[in-house]
Amino acid sequence: MACERCGGAVREDIVYVLDADARRDLVRRCLADRIRRMVCPACAHEMPYDHPLLVYRPSEGGLGALIFVPGGWQDEPGQPTWLVRLLAWLYIELGLTFDDQQPHYVQTDLDGLCAILCRSLVEDRRGPSAPELPEVPDYTSLVVWPRVH
Ligand SMILES: [Zn+2]
Repeated sequence: MACERCGGAVREDIVYVLDADARRDLVRRCLADRIRRMVCPACAHEMPYDHPLLVYRPSEGGLGALIFVPGGWQDEPGQPTWLVRLLAWLYIELGLTFDDQQPHYVQTDLDGLCAILCRSLVEDRRGPSAPELPEVPDYTSLVVWPRVH
């Protein structure tokens, strides 16, 4: 897609499915609201990106293991919902069979997600050597799973 400011090409490599246990670095970026922004490489203009996001937390188990943030994208008629698409992706990555039966999950908005994830990072934030939030020079490194399309 094109940058709103300068018209330059902006990559759309964005996290759709996040394993929050494996990628705590991305969880920290999510808390800083960086996970949903694209940055133009030419002019550094930041654009919010209101895509659906599925967060997987196997260490939580039960209801808290799956968190779905619908974002602003509408489901398309005749197509699987975004929730089903992202669940199917996750199942493939985990080597499981997905049969359209939706498991229990928590649905929230980005603020709610950050509140949940913040609790899981409270020790990181309290620690004397808590790492600073890293810059995001290359969004390719944020991609956990393949992009849509
Ligand atoms: Zn630009």
